[in-house]
Amino acid sequence: MKTLFQKIIDREIPAKLVHEDDLCIAIHDINPQAPMHVLVIPKKLIARVAEATIADRATLGHLLLTAAALAKKLGVAESGFRIVINNGQDGGETVPHLHVHLLGQRPLGWPPG
Ligand code: 5GP
Repeated sequence: MKTLFQKIIDREIPAKLVHEDDLCIAIHDINPQAPMHVLVIPKKLIARVAEATIADRATLGHLLLTAAALAKKLGVAESGFRIVINNGQDGGETVPHLHVHLLGQRPLGWPPG
């Protein structure tokens, strides 16, 4: 059974694509929590960061570097941005396919809700 994000990667469900390379895609979130809300998603299925292994270290690093590069490309590198990974029920995870949230273009409160 494919995850929702696997279906987006395989172009079975449409999404607004921001970036794609051999390891990941980045799309605009369908329900943005900030004026800029992008999801960076590995093509390899890792359910959540807690399930990642040492074999995934290059992928995990690539997700963060891609998010930072997209922050620059989308114009929030100077104003600031937030990178979030939700893990499990209390973490607010709803899609069991690892993804990095990149949020910006508004001041973000701390601590998060
Ligand atoms: P999570 O809660 O698992 O950390 O994040 C899942 C994110 O996926 C949410 O921010 C949600 O709005 C987003 N999302 C859910 N379904 C879709 C969809 O079909 N398309 C896109 N682009 N984003 C989605």
